[in-house]
Amino acid sequence: MAALSRGSSSRARHPDRVETIGRCRQADPAAAAAIIGQAQAAHLDWRKVPAPGRGELVRLFADELRAAKAELGRLVTIEVGKIFSEGQGEVQEMIDICDFAVGLSRQLHGLTMATERANHRMMETWHPLGVTGIISAFNFPVAVWSWNAALALVCGNSCVWKPSEKAPLAALATQALFERGAARFAGAPAGLSALLIGGREVGELLIDDPRVPVVSATGSTVMGRAVAPRLAQRFARAILELGGNNAAIVCPSADLDLALNAIAFAAMGTAGQRCTTLRRLIVHTGVYDRLIPRLKKTYASVRIGDPRRSGVLVGPLIDARAFEEMQKALAAARAEGSIVTGGERVDAERLSQAYYVRPALVEMPGQTELVRRETFAPILYVIKYREFAEALRLHNGVTQGLSSSIFTNDVREAERFLAVDGSDCGIANLNIGPSGAEIGGAFGGEKETGGGREAGADSWKAYMRRATNTINYGRDLPLAQGVSFDVG
Ligand code: NAD
Repeated sequence: MAALSRGSSSRARHPDRVETIGRCRQADPAAAAAIIGQAQAAHLDWRKVPAPGRGELVRLFADELRAAKAELGRLVTIEVGKIFSEGQGEVQEMIDICDFAVGLSRQLHGLTMATERANHRMMETWHPLGVTGIISAFNFPVAVWSWNAALALVCGNSCVWKPSEKAPLAALATQALFERGAARFAGAPAGLSALLIGGREVGELLIDDPRVPVVSATGSTVMGRAVAPRLAQRFARAILELGGNNAAIVCPSADLDLALNAIAFAAMGTAGQRCTTLRRLIVHTGVYDRLIPRLKKTYASVRIGDPRRSGVLVGPLIDARAFEEMQKALAAARAEGSIVTGGERVDAERLSQAYYVRPALVEMPGQTELVRRETFAPILYVIKYREFAEALRLHNGVTQGLSSSIFTNDVREAERFLAVDGSDCGIANLNIGPSGAEIGGAFGGEKETGGGREAGADSWKAYMRRATNTINYGRDLPLAQGVSFDVG
């Protein structure tokens, strides 16, 4: 993988050793314009390849991913600090979405509609949109791209990807694997899927380019707030996958053993750096004293350290800023009268510039402004409730709407949570935590999470345009709604 680092500028770092492991050339505006131009030309050729043929290219790419799964997963671990199984899992998710997209390449179908006019037929046809811009966050440095790219490619689009400036190497490796797969496909146009390395300003080039009709942007709500109006200004389509503030409700009838394990993974996995990380735990007063002391023990015993080592469950935070934000939030929580367990830095003397922390469990007096904010670090705020309606109110009382879950064996509570007046999130789970999605279901959330959906169901439609066709196979010209316009 060392051969993948090249050029200068944008630095890739190992979160553990703060050592520079690669340098990547950042795209300048002229280079970005050329790459987008080439992607546009590639789309014009690619759209003429029948969709199942386009699926074949994605299948070939998936072969490359299978062959390189161990190495690419390891690179994800090295670059962003995920534990080994999560790095591998991320690549497996890429393979899964490719398989899903290959199947979809034979199912991009529209409707035939009833028409009121005799000897007429009405139907819809789906066409590719064009260049798909993809902006991704550091915490899923390659999987999120593949959720978009695999579908966009079978739909007949080309792709231009601006990965996180914190994870350029995994993106370069993925691009190399894509090119390897494309080389085995006769007729893959040059520049069908391209990379733009750089930070926010490079992302803005993609956002503002009129040749890019659809942009999928994954990251913070702050990013979404900047990006959405710019895309709207030029009427481009936006698929926004933004911040979350995910909660779980633990009810009196919950299986507490199961809940404990689910909470531990959802709150501490990926060192609390998943958009679906469990950040708020709403616990019934009747089970609080049976659950929280056990959870504290789990928090105290979880192994933190080099994510490449087996047995380690919590790797480092991505950078110093993430650590500072976490400490600021914990200080604010203390000032609000909460009880904080954990949250301290680990191994600071030996690794003075790496940011390992013990995940924090914070027992809050209520759902304050602090709790309603997403702090992208392993902090789990715990709040008590007495009445189910109160739990639901707390649950929905935040501006984000990504993922949610309930632990209960009471069918009324379970169904209420999933009903129209239950969870207001894009993902609502029963007896599992809010994180750990599969590509078979649409992924995304409401409110300030942005409303976008990726993977699953019919999300391919986001990368295509729909044309309604009316066909007259008769000799008359009846007009709809009984309108008459006889020019003799
Ligand atoms: P971030 O917002 O700092 O950056 C995300 C990406 O957006 C990066 O590639 C960055 O360069 C780019 N960017 C930032 N501002 C931009 C602008 N004005 N114009 C164009 N591009 C811009 O996020 P991050 O720190 O990398 O990731 C963590 C955040 O992402 C968290 O809030 C997390 O919840 C969210 N996230 C959401 C999902 C989801 O599916 N909903 C998935 C992963 C991460």
